[in-house]
Amino acid sequence: MRRIGVTGAAGRMGETVIETAGDREDVTVVFAVDDTDTETVADKPVHDPEDIGALLATHEPDAIVDFSVPEATVAFADACAAAAVPLVTGTTGFEDGQLDSLTRASEDVAVLKAANFARGIQALLSTVRAAAEALPGYDVELTETHHNDKQDAPSGTAKTLLDALAEERDDFEEVYGREGIDPREDGEVGVHVRRAGDVRGEHELMFAGNDEVLTLTHRAEDRGVFAAGALDAAVWLAGRDPGFYTFGDVIEG
Ligand code: NAD
Repeated sequence: MRRIGVTGAAGRMGETVIETAGDREDVTVVFAVDDTDTETVADKPVHDPEDIGALLATHEPDAIVDFSVPEATVAFADACAAAAVPLVTGTTGFEDGQLDSLTRASEDVAVLKAANFARGIQALLSTVRAAAEALPGYDVELTETHHNDKQDAPSGTAKTLLDALAEERDDFEEVYGREGIDPREDGEVGVHVRRAGDVRGEHELMFAGNDEVLTLTHRAEDRGVFAAGALDAAVWLAGRDPGFYTFGDVIEG
């Protein structure tokens, strides 16, 4: 049984992580942290973020699972590095300097960051690399859809998909939406962002050319899929050497 702390606990994902952990036998939540007036989440008392150092020292968790906001994640990573507690984070929208902070923390402790903890996205990443290799010169357009309260755009997953594409195509230019007289140029990859309702997360890559179209779509239908992946990552990360890990490392074993 791995003992985890959850940060961003009162958010959509944090609450789902705590509920999902409650249904599993390999993890238990030993504390919850959020910057909120909410006193409990799924029967767990919610602690103030300023108490993170004391909580880590008192409970000595095997890992932290974080779904919060970038500036908070950076502070939690520093606290985890000081306390030698591994950190799993699914938070997205980091600036470059904030990513540098996570990288520095990973010199002292195991840090695993993933923009998407759905296993289907890992399969999609492999498929995108294969499609890009098999279909040189085909036009590529990416569309992502999320709920109407999502803060960052495009999604972290969209950026990860573009990174996978870039492994096979090194010279494309990302174009964010089109308006007016704006025809497509060779070498562009259109990126389109939709925000509506309570959509959990949908990503579609279209490869079009030569009188044929290949469309690759992933749709998360419940936040539980992300929570399950993040908890799998926490179980996997506990006890690992310092370093920067990805969800792909978990899937590959
Ligand atoms: P949310 O807004 O519902 O929850 C974020 C929580 O963080 C809130 O409860 C907020 O009070 C809390 N918070 C803000 N500042 C804090 C601080 N200083 N200390 C502690 N808690 C603080 O958002 P969400 O939908 O749960 O998503 C959270 C993050 O996870 C986003 O970046 C989102 O893009 C990402 N996400 C990742 C995945 C994935 O699989 N990796 C899946 C879904 C969402």
